[in-house]
Amino acid sequence: MPELPEAERARQILEQHAVGRTVARVDDTDAFVCRPHPAGEIDGVMHGLVITGARRRGKALWLETDGGIDLALHLGMSGSFRANGAPSPRNWDRFTIWFTDGTHLALHDKRRLGRARLDADRTRLGPDAADVTRADFRRRVGRGRIAVKARLLDQSTLAGVGNLIADEALWRARIGPSVPAASLDEARLDRLRVELRAVIRDALKPGGGSGRGAFARSRRSGTCVRCGAPLERGTIGGRTTYWCTAEQAG
Ligand SMILES: [Zn+2]
Repeated sequence: MPELPEAERARQILEQHAVGRTVARVDDTDAFVCRPHPAGEIDGVMHGLVITGARRRGKALWLETDGGIDLALHLGMSGSFRANGAPSPRNWDRFTIWFTDGTHLALHDKRRLGRARLDADRTRLGPDAADVTRADFRRRVGRGRIAVKARLLDQSTLAGVGNLIADEALWRARIGPSVPAASLDEARLDRLRVELRAVIRDALKPGGGSGRGAFARSRRSGTCVRCGAPLERGTIGGRTTYWCTAEQAG
């Protein structure tokens, strides 16, 4: 499942292969991927527009245009953007933008869980997890009796934190995932924010990615690579969660 680092890599592909180009036509014939738009609607709106920006907040991606209309693009579980590739077999290219310079960009998605839609509402998304300020993090994360991990996964609190990133950040900060969010003092919240941003920064490096940090090695072995204690496994916030029984006891 894509998390923030995968979404940022996808945004960079959009930046490189769409921004500055003029839309010649759009293949929006997959009305499921383009819902609620009927086939032809996105094509009609986008025709002739210049792509002026490729933006991301959390896992949400969108293209800005000189017509003031945004095109939101979602990768779903396994989608990716491919520039100027040969047509994919079995119509796995669910949505394609052709530009006036002859290049094109396709949303390639075997599972058909990606989406393309005009002017999607982003008002319910919290600030991007990579950019959130200390004050904003304290205020947004450190409230309520909800488990801190569930709070981190709530995209209206912070955008872009997925299951693997949340577990890694909590382990690095030595905070138990089921601790009530409001019980964390400012020092622990600040530490969690620092570690969360470090996890995201590491994952954005070449060769990085969600779930490739030190905690991923612990999860595979069932033993904390830092202290040697066994890991515990449970369900928090509806997601499978691992934590160190010694260092994340509270
Ligand atoms: Zn440990």
